[in-house]
Amino acid sequence: HPEDRDLYFERTRQLLREGSVRSRYRVHDRQGNYHWLLDEAKLLRDDLGQPVEAVGLWLDVTEATLAAQQIKDSEERYRLLVEDSPAMICRYRPDLTLTFGNTPLANYLECTPAQLPGINLGHWLSEEQRSAFVKRIGQLSPEFPVSTAEISLQLPGRAHAWWVWSDRGVFDEHGQLQEIQAVGRDNTEVRRSQQQLTQSAKMATLGEMATGLAHEINQPLNVMRMAIVNMLKRLGNGNVQIDYLTEKLQRLDAQVQRAARVVDHMRVFGRRSEVEQQPFDPAQAVEGTQSLLGEGLRGKGVDLRITPMDGHVQVNGHVDQLEQVLINLVVNARDALMARHEKNHDLRPWIALYSEHDSRHIRIWVEDNGGGIDARLLERIFEPFFTTKPIGVGTGLGLSVSYGIVENMGGRLSVVNSEHGARFCVELPVVGGG
Ligand code: ADP
Repeated sequence: HPEDRDLYFERTRQLLREGSVRSRYRVHDRQGNYHWLLDEAKLLRDDLGQPVEAVGLWLDVTEATLAAQQIKDSEERYRLLVEDSPAMICRYRPDLTLTFGNTPLANYLECTPAQLPGINLGHWLSEEQRSAFVKRIGQLSPEFPVSTAEISLQLPGRAHAWWVWSDRGVFDEHGQLQEIQAVGRDNTEVRRSQQQLTQSAKMATLGEMATGLAHEINQPLNVMRMAIVNMLKRLGNGNVQIDYLTEKLQRLDAQVQRAARVVDHMRVFGRRSEVEQQPFDPAQAVEGTQSLLGEGLRGKGVDLRITPMDGHVQVNGHVDQLEQVLINLVVNARDALMARHEKNHDLRPWIALYSEHDSRHIRIWVEDNGGGIDARLLERIFEPFFTTKPIGVGTGLGLSVSYGIVENMGGRLSVVNSEHGARFCVELPVVGGG
């Protein structure tokens, strides 16, 4: 090979000088194809020390040489890929100490890639997030070496960040986890807009409930007015006993408390959810739904039938979000019932809320006798902005946001048509369930 000519002469000079040589060069065969040869030669001399001939070994090492070259090229390609990738790429030990990280990761952690090895990833995770992370890593095995999760971190100088994070375990020959290779993508923007969407859907729900609420607060106000009018009448007559006054004032107090409870509840409901999920009893969300909507439904002639849960379980998430899901489902049922009632005045509208649980899941059903959902629409009702209601009435967000909330809690929101109407099911994993 023209490029190896000098190499070949140098090899020959070395053979004469030192008596043996080992080198590698290309020669072509009759067809003109080049081969890599590994050449090991030894010089034989006569009694006077003059070179007589060379003995040697030629090995065709074309394949091995090309393979090595390919590995070198691909290593280079991967190095560039890792360095130029906008994704965060790193390797870390099971105790979360980084052994390598690329520039995007270093940028997020506000250091240089060279400073990354030795840093512990757990540093940016809350206690809860860290233990969930370590637990997830602990479940990697040679059979199932890959796991993906969304993790949330507290980065230097930034608000919360969410990363979609994929881990692949690297195991030794005993199946022991040695190291983890991870690829991450910043999902914070997406998360933020999801949160905003949830928040606006929540505000829309609040608006919906304003009428029911006005009733909820008006009720105690009426009772209080009556009590005050009566007291004033008696005072005017000069006919007041302490017992009578005490009883009336206690009644006023009870009504003030009732109104305050409603207002408190609204405030809690309107707040943004905490970042971390918390275990809570889903029965609380059912109670909240009843207290916010019960009165308004009764006013519209809808019978809200709530079957109390038997026993207590805990689920992970935010109680106000689950409440928002139930409120959306009940409000949708109400709308379907009202629409049907307009056409059929004999309809006795009802909404049933009941549940069932085993050691792993709790299922909460919301069923109505509104006639159900057109089979062709069943697939689509969970899509954002899908609505069959008039413009300005429906937002089409209720079910899609509810779907997201339930999914975020590790559960599933589904619907079937029962013999009476639509039956929605919120299925959630129970905390500590197998
Ligand atoms: P919106 O209520 O603003 O229309 P949703 O996402 O909550 O948005 O609901 C989407 C659609 O699903 C509704 O417009 C309605 O057609 C249908 N739907 C939801 N719940 C029921 C139900 N209980 N009975 C009949 N149709 C329903």
